[in-house]
Amino acid sequence: MEQYIVSARKYRPDTFKSVVGQDTLVTTLKNAIQTQRLAHAYLFCGPRGVGKTTCARIFAKTINCSNLKPDGEACNECDSCRSFNDQRSLNIFELDAASNNGVDDIRDLIEQVMVPPQIGKYRVYIIDEVHMLTPAAFNAFLKTLEEPPSYAIFILATTEKHKILPTIISRCQVYDFNRIQIADTVEYLKYVAANEIITVEDEALAVIAQKADGAMRDALSIFDQIVSFCGKDITYKTVIENLNVLDYEYYFRLIDIFLREDVTNALLILNEIINKGFDIHSFVLGLSSHFRDLLVSRDEQTLKLLQVSELVVRQYAEQAAKCEPQFIYKALEITNQCELNYRISKNKRLLVELMLIKLCQIASGEENNNSNTPLKKIVISDNKPDVPEKNATVQQSENKSVVQTADTETKQSSAVQPLQQPAIPLAKNPNIINLAGLTATANAVETENRLQAATPAVSTQNEPISENQPFTQEQLNEAWQNYALSIENDTFFANTIKGITPIKEEHSCSILVLNGHQLKEITDKKPYIEKFISQKLHNTLFELKISKDTTIQAVKTLSPTDKLSAMLQKNPNLQEFVAELELEISY
Ligand SMILES: [Zn+2]
Repeated sequence: MEQYIVSARKYRPDTFKSVVGQDTLVTTLKNAIQTQRLAHAYLFCGPRGVGKTTCARIFAKTINCSNLKPDGEACNECDSCRSFNDQRSLNIFELDAASNNGVDDIRDLIEQVMVPPQIGKYRVYIIDEVHMLTPAAFNAFLKTLEEPPSYAIFILATTEKHKILPTIISRCQVYDFNRIQIADTVEYLKYVAANEIITVEDEALAVIAQKADGAMRDALSIFDQIVSFCGKDITYKTVIENLNVLDYEYYFRLIDIFLREDVTNALLILNEIINKGFDIHSFVLGLSSHFRDLLVSRDEQTLKLLQVSELVVRQYAEQAAKCEPQFIYKALEITNQCELNYRISKNKRLLVELMLIKLCQIASGEENNNSNTPLKKIVISDNKPDVPEKNATVQQSENKSVVQTADTETKQSSAVQPLQQPAIPLAKNPNIINLAGLTATANAVETENRLQAATPAVSTQNEPISENQPFTQEQLNEAWQNYALSIENDTFFANTIKGITPIKEEHSCSILVLNGHQLKEITDKKPYIEKFISQKLHNTLFELKISKDTTIQAVKTLSPTDKLSAMLQKNPNLQEFVAELELEISY
């Protein structure tokens, strides 16, 4: 069986030409070799996995090549090159200072330095992670670095340049390695995939490259990992699943939602993302990057800053065309503000939800040129009789999401649910949940809603208040809560009423109650409730429709009486027991 070699080793570059993403630096090194201007000490700085050690090895091989090519590359054929390629050359000495950082290790190295090369001209000493050397080891090394033998060349490599003593830096030629660009990583991975006869989608490679964050070694390791999971056919979907990366489709969907000012669906998508186990902070960062990518997609000149596959570039261009620059600037400001506040926020989910709400308000904020009040009224379908089409679609989506909403709420009942007031555990209309929850937090929203509630939507100021006038959902909510406040001597019933969200219909409203107990209590008081609310709303046609919610198991909100009657239904003998012991329910 053929021995398996990890890609990071198998595809380690062995010529300057094959080094990925460090073009300027490689050219400088090659020029130095061709013009014979070699320094005695080099310091290679840069993040991990970008090719520092690889370049050091190629450099060592090249300066020892007895048959240098005209372009400054090693021939890979002479004795010296072959010994380097077989890793048996005595002209290269590597010390990993991360694990060998003491004075003794450096003394061993200094002894080695005294031995001149047998074949070739130079002996190259690579000290990896040189910042890890102890101060004593540093000092021991300094003297050799000051006066090295003519054949000795030191290449010090570090990921943390700031930890290198100035006395060392001043004796070295410093080379700063870049993080490798995503496009370069993708190109290289494509080459590796083709060599290994693996079919792979470009978007999949882009995700791997992004995850590797500029380190080729990491990119190749991730690539190997994916191959071992997925075999010879790698798709975008399998990669994002394996790497737990949020599908960029979510971001595309969200932008469309922001443009539609659809708060409901924005919050539902966030909920979906959280339920899938993604970190909210990464989501905020991802959303910021998406806006940034949209911004650069708008201009031919900045398009090259977009580091995604070609297929997605088109998708970005299409979405960017729909967004005004002002919209993107404002959105970036909002997401950035959320990032800044993220660490200090105690309720991170709410912070992110508020961010989404603000993003939903940009589009209309621009129209009204309302720069002083960043938060605008949330558009709820019923408020706008002049846009029937929109009403229809919103209504439809509400119906669709009813079951889903109920589902997520049951799942999350134990988790933190900032947007949901505990008093409204099972409201059915997502629009209303959101609105009810938001008034507590987004003051500006609340104020505007109240203002609107105070001003009848249709009648003009001079018109006398007529009977049977239309009312809004907000006005209904307010009247409903006022009724709850008006209930005296019965806290339990008052809380029941507070916990219910009425859903507006033409001249009436419907409510869902959770159990038979509530149904009976509210039905008993129905005439009073109708009278109270019809007065508040100036609508004599007002009618209350009560129905029992059968879709949800309302375990949490069962009253003790309900629990008892449920128990009695299951076990009628219990009645005897209750009677015998004269048991009473205590509240
Ligand atoms: Zn050679």
